[in-house]
Amino acid sequence: MKDNCVFCRIVAGEIPAAKLYEDEQVLAFLDIAPVNRGHALVIPKRHFFSVTEIPAETAGHMLAVAGRLGGALLRAVDADGFNLILSNGTVAGQVVPHTHLHVIPRFPEDGIVLPSRHVEYADAAEKEAVVAAVHKRMARHSESMEREA
Ligand SMILES: [Zn+2]
Repeated sequence: MKDNCVFCRIVAGEIPAAKLYEDEQVLAFLDIAPVNRGHALVIPKRHFFSVTEIPAETAGHMLAVAGRLGGALLRAVDADGFNLILSNGTVAGQVVPHTHLHVIPRFPEDGIVLPSRHVEYADAAEKEAVVAAVHKRMARHSESMEREA
């Protein structure tokens, strides 16, 4: 736990929250500044700033809980769908430095606009360089996946 982290303090029970789900790994509660009724957050109980630091088992569990929670919210607030959004890093819009997955119920014409622009690569070589750089850094993971297959 980080003493100055508001989400760690919610996990510790030091700050109240409208809890929706809790188990040994994750906690889900209503966002205090909802963009729609039922807007919830799923957080790991352990403090991680970045999703890149979270053990795969916990990350997978966060997604599983978020999916179930989204399903529950569809009925609870009579939504028609939901978005799962994780903003990683300040530049991406992460405000609280304890990683969190937003579950945002959606309603027809609710006015929420997600990023929708498109950019172009300068040429095929630039795109191939991006692919090669990612492959290099993902190599350890894909090798372990191949061993499991
Ligand atoms: Zn924290």
